[in-house]
Formats: sequence, structure tokens, C-alpha cells
Amino acid sequence: MKPYIYFNGLLELAKIINGTERIHVGIRPYGFHAGNAMAMVVYPYLLCKYVESLGKVASFTFIVSINDWEQDALDGPNPRKYPFNVYPRNTSIFYLQDAKGCCESATDHWQPVIERNLNGLKVKYPRITFKYIRNSELIKHSFCRYLLSRTIMNPMEQFNILVTNSHFSYLNYPIKYAGAICPKCHTAHGVTTVVNHDKILWDCSKCHLTITDNTHKFQYWWYHKPMLIARIKIFDIDITLSGGDHYSEGDFSIRKAFIEKYIPTIREPYMLFTPTIISPDGQKMSKSRNNTEYANIPKLIKYSDKFMGHELKLSNKLIENIVDEKYYCYIL
Ligand SMILES: [Zn+2]
Ligand SMILES: [Zn+2]
Repeated sequence: MKPYIYFNGLLELAKIINGTERIHVGIRPYGFHAGNAMAMVVYPYLLCKYVESLGKVASFTFIVSINDWEQDALDGPNPRKYPFNVYPRNTSIFYLQDAKGCCESATDHWQPVIERNLNGLKVKYPRITFKYIRNSELIKHSFCRYLLSRTIMNPMEQFNILVTNSHFSYLNYPIKYAGAICPKCHTAHGVTTVVNHDKILWDCSKCHLTITDNTHKFQYWWYHKPMLIARIKIFDIDITLSGGDHYSEGDFSIRKAFIEKYIPTIREPYMLFTPTIISPDGQKMSKSRNNTEYANIPKLIKYSDKFMGHELKLSNKLIENIVDEKYYCYIL
């Protein structure tokens, strides 16, 4: 299988699919800057458009991962230079508080906003469906517990796949891709040990709690690349739709190698990648770079339609300054 990249990849994919596939997209529960609007809204819209232009009905099921098990922020010797030697600064997104103060957690605040916005696409393509799944809900699936435990016990086998399939520099320490979160003080800093395959021993470096309990009783942080493999298997994903930054990180080859290692009997999904959004400052747009902007969604869709490049610079024309986040995408 080859990667389907940028607009040409979208056109090629539209020809060979039938419109009923299960498509995986993921978002951290923070809302939609222009960078993640590409994979969440713009490319779903364009895929529906070009599938229907070929006489098929767009009736995709979008499996929307709400990524609440990702690191709250990346820490490590130099996260940008050595992206495979990182760990959470404090905790996982699951435990982040709602900055606006109106909900139990940041995830509880943002998930309804994300849902309302994606519903904007259903105005135009009423046969599509969205299913929202928090990473933290995956723990009820035995395959999730299996791959999570294996990630905790044997990070080296994943490290080897990551470094042989991408161009990044790396260090031999630290190498860790998942861990439990302290149930008492919510820190990610401590030692997680898998006991008898279905229990976790947690030893907290901050509050010094030591506790053994069933795997599903804990919350975790888990690096998104192996975690995607669990989602592909559990939700029987036909197509993954991701931002172009993932393609540049080597995710096409990394995912293929992960699939071969952990779920060799599945049918490999098609992988579609969007162009990467570049901020007005010339850098890749991301929350961690503090350079996010909102896009005017109809204008960004129009501009991306037939845009052949791999990097799309967000000009002032495409930026939306006054945004009602709740109904951001309702203007289709
Ligand atoms: Zn709130
Ligand atoms: Zn603790």
C-alpha cells in the first residue's frame, strides 16, 4: 500500500473507495486551530465532495478520537530535536482542568465544542456519521490493555521501529512511550510496572504512593503513534486521515511497521495526509509553538480544493479573527 498524500492523494483515494468507509481522525481536546481544521474539517469535506462527484454517496463513519491520554505537554532533553525521547511534563490531558472553569475538565469543556463544530459538515453531507471516543474509554478493550502493557514493558521494540523509519536524531535515554498516572496526585512521574499481564504496580515519585491494581483502574499517558495502532484494530479502521506533519515525521512507514509487528493479520488502512499549515511566522502551526490562528473555514476549504502543494501558508486572507468557537464550522 502507498501513502495518499495531499490533494492528489485525496483525488486518487476518492476513486477507489465507495463512500461507506470508517475513517479515523484525532484531536486533542482544545478546539480547532487552522492546523487541525485541515484533517478534521477541510479534508473530510473535500473527500465527501469528490466521492459524490463520482456518483457515490458520502456516508462515511468518522471515528473521532478525543486524545485525552496524550502528554499534557512534552518534556525531555530537547523534544523537538529528539522527539522519541520525550515524556509528559506533568500529567496526561485527562487530568487537565477546564481553563474556562465551567466544566469538570478540559476534555469535558472541549468535546461538546468539537461535536457541535463537526456537525456543521452534516448540514452539507447528511449521510455521514461521527462517533466520538475518548482514548481513556479504550481501556475496556482487551487489545488496548494488551498493547498498552506491551508498550510499558518493552519500549525498546517501539523505539527501534521509530528510529529506523524516520529521519530524527535520537538519544539512548529516556525511552518510554506509556505510563500510569498517579491516582492520588495525578503526576505522570513515577515507575509503572506490569504485574502478571493484567495488573499495574505504580510507584509515585511525587507523593510516594505505592499501589497495585487492575490495569483498567488507572489512567495513563500513551504516545499517540502506538496508541493509533490500538484504535485501528479496535475500530476496524479503513482510512486514517492525518495532518501532513505526521507524514513528514515518517508516520506512513512507522505505522506500516507497527501494524506488521502488532496486528499483522488486519487489512492495512489507506493513509491520507493533508497539507501542513504554516503560520504567518513561517513555522508549522501548533499549540506547542504558540502560533495558532483560526482559519475562515469556507475560505480555507476553497483554497485547499485543488491546492497541490504540501505546505499551505495561512495568509491574512484565510485567517478568521473573530471566532465563536462553538459554531466555528457552521458557516459551510
Ligand atoms: Zn467549561
Ligand atoms: Zn502521586
